[in-house]
Amino acid sequence: MEKIAVLGSTGSIGTSGLDVISRFPDRFKVCALSTNINTGLLREQVKKFKPKAVCIREAGKNDGNWGRAKVYEGEQGLCRMLEDMEIDTVLVGIAGSSALLPVLTALEKVKKMALANKEALVMAGDIIMKKALKNKVAVVPVDSEHSAIFQCIGNNRKDLRKIFLTGSGGPLLKLKKSGFRHITLKQAVNHPRWKMGRKISVDSATMMNKGLEVIEARWLFDVDIKDIKILIHPEAVVHSMVEFSDGAMLAQLGACDMRIPIQYALTYPDRFSSGIKAPELSKIKNLSFYNPDLSRFPCIGLAYEAGKRAGTYPSILNASNEVAVKEFIEGRIRYMDIPKAIEKIMGLHRGIKGPRLGDILDADKWARIKTREIFECCR
Ligand code: MG
Repeated sequence: MEKIAVLGSTGSIGTSGLDVISRFPDRFKVCALSTNINTGLLREQVKKFKPKAVCIREAGKNDGNWGRAKVYEGEQGLCRMLEDMEIDTVLVGIAGSSALLPVLTALEKVKKMALANKEALVMAGDIIMKKALKNKVAVVPVDSEHSAIFQCIGNNRKDLRKIFLTGSGGPLLKLKKSGFRHITLKQAVNHPRWKMGRKISVDSATMMNKGLEVIEARWLFDVDIKDIKILIHPEAVVHSMVEFSDGAMLAQLGACDMRIPIQYALTYPDRFSSGIKAPELSKIKNLSFYNPDLSRFPCIGLAYEAGKRAGTYPSILNASNEVAVKEFIEGRIRYMDIPKAIEKIMGLHRGIKGPRLGDILDADKWARIKTREIFECCR
């Protein structure tokens, strides 16, 4: 039995992950779960999967008796739980930069990491991938595009020439530039293809999600930023493609269901029945691809810029984006203020090359404070 920990078990990835795990009761034993604040759902999951430990990340939200499961609290508690438990595989479904320290802790002990979080890689991809290599941990991406790329590359890494990251274009793909002034939260989170959490849904609307994915791919597959291209593909059937040195291209196609990449990451290198149907191409008929419009989606350009400058710039991009998106979700700023703020903060930052973890965390903190200052002085 493979002992598995699901971090962020009450979120979109975590619940889909547990759904996948429950299909293979002879292969996986859930040993640990963590949530931010959703103790109600965590309680149901504890009843069903009987983990040995749980962690509630938000301090003061531990509201009672967890039976036989040992309870940990807070960010440090999560890292301690990972240190204490015997874990073979970890599914990281935590959203945002708060995954970074748990990811680094888990890399000290697991054999496999199914990684759905992109922000940790954006911030510290170099450190994470070096640590995984040193500790012989297989990092298998769960992000659908990166799962597709991982599957397409197979054993041909040395022949890889280019990566084509596809994106459906999000809910605002067809909106005219003038319409971007008055975007509501409801419009922004109304994704046409994928059901996801609010942060990533807003990132999909601004297309910062695709920009972060470029940097994520840069580290996962050790590819130069300039060799990673974004292609808008509204049908969302092709989940990404690669081009090899001989000019051959491979693509991975499938339904828009996160349980497919989650299951692949958990059972890799094996494939098992998922019960999910493949798309019927004769019904879809046409698959289209085109270049993204950077004037309507400036976050893409900002992400490429941060990726090219490297060092602490991707952390700055990510932290500033997280603050801005939260402000937008809570109704305090407009949609168009998101890229404006990030651009300003990136301009103010003095980057550090080859940053250590401390430099990255300092840059992250600095960007958060500075981004909040921008919004506060406008109020
Ligand atoms: Mg994705």
